[in-house]
Amino acid sequence: MAYQALYRVWRPQRFDDMIGQEVITRTLKNAITTNQISHAYLFAGPRGTGKTSAAKIFAKAINCHHQVDGEPCNACETCKAITDGTLNDVIEIDAASNNGVEEIRDIRDKVKYAPTVADYKVYIIDEVHMLSTGAFNALLKTLEEPPANVIFILATTEPHKIPATIISRTQRFDFKRIAANDSYQRMIYILKQKDVSYDDQAIKVIAKAAEGGMRDALSILDQALSFGDNEITLDNALLVTGSVTHELLATYVQQVIAGDTKAGLASLQSVLEAGKDAERFTEDIIGYTRDLLLYQQAPKMVEEAEMGSVSEAFQQLAAATSAQTMYAMINELNSIQQQMRFTTHPDVYLEILTIKLAEIGNQQGQIPPAAQPVAAPENADQSGVADLQREVQQLRSAVKHLEEANAGQPAKASSGTPRVKAAVKQEVNLAKINPVLGTATREKLNQLQEVWPDILNSLNVAQRAVMKASQPVAAADSGVIVAFDFSFFFQRATLDRELTDALENGLDRMIGTALPVVFVPKDQWPRIRKSYLAAHKAQLQANSPEDQQPEQPAENPVVTKAEELFGKSIVDIKQD
Ligand SMILES: [Zn+2]
Repeated sequence: MAYQALYRVWRPQRFDDMIGQEVITRTLKNAITTNQISHAYLFAGPRGTGKTSAAKIFAKAINCHHQVDGEPCNACETCKAITDGTLNDVIEIDAASNNGVEEIRDIRDKVKYAPTVADYKVYIIDEVHMLSTGAFNALLKTLEEPPANVIFILATTEPHKIPATIISRTQRFDFKRIAANDSYQRMIYILKQKDVSYDDQAIKVIAKAAEGGMRDALSILDQALSFGDNEITLDNALLVTGSVTHELLATYVQQVIAGDTKAGLASLQSVLEAGKDAERFTEDIIGYTRDLLLYQQAPKMVEEAEMGSVSEAFQQLAAATSAQTMYAMINELNSIQQQMRFTTHPDVYLEILTIKLAEIGNQQGQIPPAAQPVAAPENADQSGVADLQREVQQLRSAVKHLEEANAGQPAKASSGTPRVKAAVKQEVNLAKINPVLGTATREKLNQLQEVWPDILNSLNVAQRAVMKASQPVAAADSGVIVAFDFSFFFQRATLDRELTDALENGLDRMIGTALPVVFVPKDQWPRIRKSYLAAHKAQLQANSPEDQQPEQPAENPVVTKAEELFGKSIVDIKQD
């Protein structure tokens, strides 16, 4: 028999076999036993968390005549046929490949016919967010007048891409990521059943790398298995997941905490040379640092999570490092991780990261450099060290420069590099902002904020990178004002005509009008807002909406108008 992937062989066939979705499986079983079945369900959640498995188990349970406590028997003809995918009344559609209107029209035509063999006809539409607008409209018509004995189960990893009109006609279940310990337990169970020997540490590495997807965990396990001869070794697990060994991580973290930039960069070099993934490495350092912090507070919890394998180096590091240092490191790691998501040169970010972490270590100087293990790179001769020192110097100035750009400081002639000096600084466009402020309403802003994440999701990766630290701060029927946390991104966005177009198209799709979008840097926003309010004081007083809030006399029309525009939470009434 041909080899079958573990995730197929070990796909759960009963609700009780499902991992980490207890609330959902209990609710579904209850619905079946109490005969309160809805005609449409939405199963939303990350990939590999059991959505389609749950859909198939549900299809079996409602059609199985030997169902017990909401579980299918998995032995009768109907159950077997559904498991094999040969029952005509249970129709699985992958919207990612069948996204045409025709397929859904086909459903509309056939949906009228009663099930032939089973009690219920079940349509399982996977990746339903991929349907075209036309197909969604056709599906909506079917959901509006659902024929008897027909059930739709819509599965998606991206529920925000599904029209609200569809969602409101379904009963929604949100599938959670699966906890590392749960997938660890499941893998151990499967390996024991298969009589495969394994290194416990290897399974932990795989469980962590799978990031909450059971299917991913089993796929990685499959790969690690194909490397070894019926055994899972730590080396193979590390190889397949691109993770870094605990020792190497420990060495790296010790070096940066000791403030030893050179040694840290050398370790980083060997990590990257070994072909490790930069994002995975960052993830590993975050996990390691978080564990250190947690170990100080609750050593038992870490020992349990690590299932007893806490090394001596780890314990020493946890004892010798202050919590502040580790919080500062985690902040830095999180911020670099965000930036890395959108770059094609993650290595550079890792170098910057190493320098910043070492600076944090230096500032708080927890471990004297003499106490740290000397892990000088084997191949680092004197010229190598000089190279590294030069690189450190260059990176330091790069970091400094980035920080200046982020803080919204105009690049000073003395410190700016020629390239940055050449860039024309973009100014705030008050001519476009003021008309929006004049007619802005809180209601419009709320509407905008609600759809904003969806609009950002429709952008391409590069555009999202620019927009990630921005939010709409005022909105009117004549336009939207978007503020950027970093002046650097404000500059980029203002120069990017395509980005503006994409945002306006997104607005057209989500709210029906392509409102013009205007950008401001967040640090300038309070001043702009204040001077607008001051300049239009008389006008605002004349139009003050007293009769709208009779129980709260508008003592200060400017404040009232400000609240109306921006909401109470943002208005600072204190005089500054
Ligand atoms: Zn059955």
